[in-house]
Amino acid sequence: MINLKRNPKVGFVSLGCPKALVDSERILTQLRTDGYDISPDYAGADVVVVNTCGFIDSARQESLEAIGEALTANGRVIVTGCLGKNAEDIRSVHPRVLAVTGPQQYEAVVSAVHLHAPPTQAHDPFTNLVPASRSDPVSRDAENGGIGIKLTPRHYAYLKISEGCNHKCSFCIIPSMRGKLVSRPVGEVLDEAERLVAAGVKELLVISQDTSAYGIDLKYKLDFWGGRPLRTRMKELCEGLGSLGAWVRLHYVYPYPHVDEIIPLMAEGKILPYLDIPFQHGSKDVLRRMRRPAASENNLERINRWREICPEITIRSTFIVGFPGETEAEFAELIDFLDAAQLDRVGCFKYSPVAGAAANALEGAVPEEVKQERWDRFMQAQAIISRKRLQYKIGSIQAVLVDAVEPGRAIGRSMADAPEIDGIVTIRHPPGFRPAAHKPNAPSPGALRPGALVQVAIDSADDYDLAGSLVSATGA
Ligand code: SF4
Repeated sequence: MINLKRNPKVGFVSLGCPKALVDSERILTQLRTDGYDISPDYAGADVVVVNTCGFIDSARQESLEAIGEALTANGRVIVTGCLGKNAEDIRSVHPRVLAVTGPQQYEAVVSAVHLHAPPTQAHDPFTNLVPASRSDPVSRDAENGGIGIKLTPRHYAYLKISEGCNHKCSFCIIPSMRGKLVSRPVGEVLDEAERLVAAGVKELLVISQDTSAYGIDLKYKLDFWGGRPLRTRMKELCEGLGSLGAWVRLHYVYPYPHVDEIIPLMAEGKILPYLDIPFQHGSKDVLRRMRRPAASENNLERINRWREICPEITIRSTFIVGFPGETEAEFAELIDFLDAAQLDRVGCFKYSPVAGAAANALEGAVPEEVKQERWDRFMQAQAIISRKRLQYKIGSIQAVLVDAVEPGRAIGRSMADAPEIDGIVTIRHPPGFRPAAHKPNAPSPGALRPGALVQVAIDSADDYDLAGSLVSATGA
């Protein structure tokens, strides 16, 4: 029974990718605006929302387990997110869930919360956009201009520029879950970015399903930002973001020719020299079977051209091994591609069928032991490349954004490292380090704090991470 004398409390479990995390932030912000408190645990919650991921089978399984855990611990559970697209799949496993809503159905999930844990007092959104609360996971609330609740640390934020996707990659069901591409007008995105930076965000991580396609659905519509006309297009977006004084990192970019226009902005230091491009394979035949966007582009030529314009560019990518029909020769092409491309950061997945994906109908399923063996070979090949590329950085001075301070060391990331998916830089100076007073620009004891931008002299590297000493409190 809900106690009507206090604000109802909502527990929240957020699973999946950064795009789902942004959805969670939006739902939580609306709930706080509606007068709900956020419960840090199941026991204190009147209702629990589970934002699920349904991208691959292991993610679906994890989501179903999270729903089961919330049901056992609390009993009053509302499900939303990608897995919610097929409510029956959830109800067949967990018939006790109170409601199921799909991805981007913000109003529907908030309405379900209102229905099952009604708000007790009217909250006035005109006087207090997001009520402050100690129990907010991380709150960027009233004092920062009403930009909502954020689930990442204060110093970085994901900036979602569009929803959905117009492609039909044969292994992917995202377009059927999230629909066609819908871009946000450029003025709206830049306004949000400006508010985030004003609130102390030092790094903006641009996310979408396909960042290169930004604005296509709007026919690159003219919009306004700060009274200035701008087209809703990738280059103009990057120029606007680059003027804000924060690190700007691009994710989910496809290697279309117009991406070439962005590289000079990286060379000029306006946005980070970093591109996250999911190439997925190095064999044109496999890419065609995957129905990948830009499958016919010469990716090696393009990478080489980018490096000529911006030699310090970091390229991160993901690949799939064991896609249906992948022959040993096609896998060898992938390894050759890796050798030739010398990518900085690489993730690799063993293909696993996703219910509803077109690739399920392809012939030539690769046996699990062959997938494993190819994955091992792939990872060994990339570890050598990664180690070699990081060795080149020994002796250099890198700008590092501090993420965490621990006894005796701090952990940060260089321009080449996105949070969660790339490497780290260990800064070995203890937090209480007191510099010699005569050194110009010497770091103060407070220099190492989360969100600080510092300079680090790199003196060692392993396969994926760097380590070094603090040399200056000014990383820019
Ligand atoms: S580009 Fe392909 S993999 Fe990415 S969301 Fe669209 S269909 Fe899925």
